[in-house]
Amino acid sequence: IVLSGPSGVGKSTVISELLSERENIYFSVSFTTRQPRVGEEDGVNYNFVSREQFESMISGGELLEYAEYVHNYYGTSLRLIEEKLSAGTDVCSSDLQEKLDQGIDVILEIEIQGAAKVREKMPEAVSLFLVPPSFEELSRRLHRRATDAEEVIQGRLQKAREECKQIPNYDYLVVNDKVSEAAGEIIAILTAESCRTKHRINLVEGV
Ligand code: 5GP
Repeated sequence: IVLSGPSGVGKSTVISELLSERENIYFSVSFTTRQPRVGEEDGVNYNFVSREQFESMISGGELLEYAEYVHNYYGTSLRLIEEKLSAGTDVCSSDLQEKLDQGIDVILEIEIQGAAKVREKMPEAVSLFLVPPSFEELSRRLHRRATDAEEVIQGRLQKAREECKQIPNYDYLVVNDKVSEAAGEIIAILTAESCRTKHRINLVEGV
């Protein structure tokens, strides 16, 4: 599952709600070169690394996808997902595809360039784009967060408008007005996806 949306839209909050409501879902903790914000924990929100460390992950082919976003690198380590899934479940195999086939969902909270790479490499991925009720509300949320300098906030607002142009490439669009409602819609989407015939055909003998 790929979830994208402008910085400040509330992706992390919606994901926390989703994780508390639904089982068999694993959140992929990304690697980034950006500085931790107040309250963020290494290994929980992100794995915070230096530029050198990130570049060696790129050259070592460790990343499923990565992108440069407002002067920092962000990326998804396939190896880390596989390790965590093997540790956290009774599934013995470390093969990611096998786990996905067994009904374990992996959610990636990534921006649009990374989402495009995942779609290319894993066409079965379900992609969702989360939007704020308006750009004015997004600006209010970014200011309320009060962790970034004004010029960083302005850069992120500008970026938000560009990112929204990619919405037609996503399977689902969710508006984050109330967190519980947005999370509820995402749960409904995941439930419907899991009921797709291709995921359930083996339940019926002889078909
Ligand atoms: P923030 O600095 O606000 O936490 O994140 C900035 C942007 O980077 C967000 O749009 C977020 O979804 C995206 N992002 C976080 N992790 C990854 C990742 O692993 N890969 C990519 N491509 N984008 C990411």
